[in-house]
Amino acid sequence: MESLYNKYRPTTFDQVIGQRHVVETLERAVRERRVSHAYLFCGPRGTGKTTMARLLAKALLCQQGRGKLPDGSCEDCRLIAAGSHPDVLEIDAASNTGVDNVRDQIISRASYAPVRGDYKVYIIDEVHMLTPAAFNALLKTLEEPPAHVVFAMCTTDPQKILGTVLSRVQRFDFHAISDNDLQAHLVQLCAQEEIGYEPAALELIARSARGGMRDALKTLEQLALYTGKNVTLDAARDMLGETDAHTLGQVARALAARNVPVLFSQVASLVEAGRDLLRFANDLASHLRDVYVVSAVGADRGVLPAAADDIAGLSAEAAAFADPDRVARALEVLADAVGEMRSTTNQRLVLEVALTRISRPKSDLTLEAVAERVGSLERSVRALASPTGVAAASRAAGVGEPAPVPAVHVPQAPMPDPMPASGPVPGTESESVSGPAPVPKPPAPANVPSDLQRKWRNVVEKVRAASSAKGSLLANAVLEADDGETLSIAFPPGSRFVLQMLRRDDVKTLLRTAIAEVFGPRSFEGHESADVVPVPAAPEPAYEIPPAPAAATPEPAAVSKEADYEPTPLSAYESAAVAEPGLEYEPMPWNDVPEEPVPAPIPVIEERPATWDEPAQGVSPAGASEAMQADPHPGEAPAPVDGLEVATPDELAGIAAMLEGAFGRGVSIVVEEPDRVGKDAVESVGNGSFGGYEDYDGEDDFSDEDD
Ligand SMILES: [Zn+2]
Repeated sequence: MESLYNKYRPTTFDQVIGQRHVVETLERAVRERRVSHAYLFCGPRGTGKTTMARLLAKALLCQQGRGKLPDGSCEDCRLIAAGSHPDVLEIDAASNTGVDNVRDQIISRASYAPVRGDYKVYIIDEVHMLTPAAFNALLKTLEEPPAHVVFAMCTTDPQKILGTVLSRVQRFDFHAISDNDLQAHLVQLCAQEEIGYEPAALELIARSARGGMRDALKTLEQLALYTGKNVTLDAARDMLGETDAHTLGQVARALAARNVPVLFSQVASLVEAGRDLLRFANDLASHLRDVYVVSAVGADRGVLPAAADDIAGLSAEAAAFADPDRVARALEVLADAVGEMRSTTNQRLVLEVALTRISRPKSDLTLEAVAERVGSLERSVRALASPTGVAAASRAAGVGEPAPVPAVHVPQAPMPDPMPASGPVPGTESESVSGPAPVPKPPAPANVPSDLQRKWRNVVEKVRAASSAKGSLLANAVLEADDGETLSIAFPPGSRFVLQMLRRDDVKTLLRTAIAEVFGPRSFEGHESADVVPVPAAPEPAYEIPPAPAAATPEPAAVSKEADYEPTPLSAYESAAVAEPGLEYEPMPWNDVPEEPVPAPIPVIEERPATWDEPAQGVSPAGASEAMQADPHPGEAPAPVDGLEVATPDELAGIAAMLEGAFGRGVSIVVEEPDRVGKDAVESVGNGSFGGYEDYDGEDDFSDEDD
């Protein structure tokens, strides 16, 4: 049985589907008798390039005569359609790439006069497949073509064609045929062939053909055979392996929620069902494209494809992704995966890795992934920096009052506790200006039983005394309840990183010990709570307070310019983003230090040879601490530099672990000279090394997809 594609191949120009720009130009050339000697038809497969070449040959050889459009029915036209016209030579370069074949068929025969008509037409399919030598042979003929010779060359890959050939041809670019045109043609064929169909099935076939008529007709033909001339949507889905919209929606939502387990189980069930994973990846990409459109311009019917019928679902998915850039990155990763899946033997692995990369940008070191992470950091920094003015009360404390108003900058927090003026807080009086580096107190809700809060503060103090880095994890923690067995500790939203850190054995042990000393034996449980608001940022005027190292008030000099850049271990990843040059600085919660000095800028590891290698300065590695503490420019450096302290190796390790947890491996810390400390103290040098720090177990990967 003749294939539908051949049976319904256009025999005249007006039967061509799509490609009007090509048809009209060629028709005009034929009518005006201005046919050139060489044409190049470029375009995706199945878009009618060879058909057009044959139509051109008919136009030249049809018995209608010159200057007329071919009728498609005379003997010459029929011979050309059948591929048996003696003056029309079809060469498939994909199978005749040898220079000898081209020489035989082109050079040796081109000069012979045509047999039947006035022209000899050479149709060369996939002309880019010719070897350079074959191309050169062709080029020679193209340079001085005999008057009766016309070349119609077709290619899906014009990039591979030599410029010397391109400059001698008239080029036409064929477009993918629109889904609507394809579908209309299928409807017409079904009527002619008496094939029953569900319109949705033809729509699916058209969409799947991706602009190629040949693919569309092949699919229709197979389905007609398979279903006994009754093409249903189910059968079409089965044959084409199209993933239904429901599954695609589920996968998109899992990607948005960074739910990797769901993604893996979806892939597993696709594999079980024998689905084509490449096809699935393509379907997912086109689904995400719709999500991207909705995310970028809203759910406007005009810009969405007709097939996208679940506008509400798309809108929900766009909202779940939150940011069009996230969807765009997902599309990029998917596109890479699709390319890789074409050539790999393990499509499943490639797909799973891609889905994981989309869900977990932290496991991905591409620029786009880093950009996504910075974007989400910026969002959390903004969220943190728009103080609500008060720490919301914990639920346990039963304070229903605060209902913080976002974006209201309250210079002096009305709540008593965060500000030192309201009275000394146990455990803080002893801190001196140059004392160890504590971090801001957790906001204590106003009406919380003061005894409980005081004890909790004690715990925090103890942890902090043991390790300021670990103590800082508790900076925003609020004790919610103590039932005699378990302490319930609440953290502000967005503290998943801190919670993750609390699961580390060393942190857990330290906190348990401190709790046991204050409350007696207890376990503890940490969770995020919307009721807890991070310590509010300091108001601008706070920065104007002159550095007063030995001030009479317990107010430390630490509230100074240097404090701006203080990377507080608590939120090392946020602060690193802030300290990064070029990122706009926004006041951070920890800048407002009520009663304690801010920890000194982290002089983590001195990588500058100057300090270590120049004994002339009297600095030895052992003396590095002293060197760091000495103010090298007494006259100009801000006073607080005097208060610099050197973190202990434990603290360094803790800070580094947190940075690594937040940014992944590849982060290390560089410390500038003391007078630059704080300006850009945290840098990534990208080698992942961190001297003296080795006990990181590599498992505390910060992941914000934990729910
Ligand atoms: Zn004819």
